[in-house]
Amino acid sequence: MTDQLAKPPEGLVADRIRRHAERLLLHHLADEATALAARAEAAQLGYLDFLDQVLEEEVGVREGRRFRNALKLSGLPHHKTLDEFDFAFQPDLAPRRIRDLAALGFVRARSNVALLGPPGVGKTHIAVALAVAACQAGFSIYFTAVDDLVRQLREAETLGRFATKLQTYLKPAVLVLDEVGYLPLSRAEANMLFQLVARRYERGSIVLTSNKAFSEWGAITGDEVLATAILDRLLHHCNVLSINGPSYRLKDRFLTPPEPPMP
Ligand code: ADP
Ligand code: MG
Repeated sequence: MTDQLAKPPEGLVADRIRRHAERLLLHHLADEATALAARAEAAQLGYLDFLDQVLEEEVGVREGRRFRNALKLSGLPHHKTLDEFDFAFQPDLAPRRIRDLAALGFVRARSNVALLGPPGVGKTHIAVALAVAACQAGFSIYFTAVDDLVRQLREAETLGRFATKLQTYLKPAVLVLDEVGYLPLSRAEANMLFQLVARRYERGSIVLTSNKAFSEWGAITGDEVLATAILDRLLHHCNVLSINGPSYRLKDRFLTPPEPPMP
């Protein structure tokens, strides 16, 4: 009986746990302490298992939050994954190669991925899926179309902030450069692209998509020497995938039977 009285009431303990957990920024524990304890009691968990579960959940919640925030700030146009990619539609593309890339060895090796092919074959989808996988694994990511990149860098340059802006594209472990070659680049713009590629060389991965063959890059940049210098760094450590199948955007058009001829 005296023992019972000496014990602080449960509500007080719960309050103290909440306050301490908040101070330690363990927000999940702060919110869920009593529920966690009740579950542990129901499952008759040992002390170690209980501690393990509390920490596991805290890390899980925090990871989930980090992942969602990182995705929001990544500039990705959508968050499609490889599970949503229909490999049967693109029979020339070996699923093995894509799944190997999604294991992210290329990110750890700081090497690059080039996805080449005509419009609609899934280049951006795969680039996004690789970036999402990298983000999930804890790597920093950033997505930009090349046209936006050069516009941003040009604007920054006129404000004397080029070096700072360039950092946005140098910092992430994975930089997706979408749509290289859709529009031609001026010499100054090509030079900015060169600086970016040269400074990321062997420091961070680039995943690029392009509708142009590498042999056409001279025409994109209007300067063969500059194009060669960019490609030299880009391709030294690079997984090149050419997707030469049908456009997924036009898929349903092929399925629709042709209109009957006019009478
Ligand atoms: P690209 O960048 O090569 O022009 P996208 O990756 O933007 O093409 O693909 C166009 C659209 O078709 C996107 O909505 C994409 O998710 C979808 N898509 C392309 N290929 C496939 C595929 N094999 N399976 C499922 N969806 C696909
Ligand atoms: Mg695309």
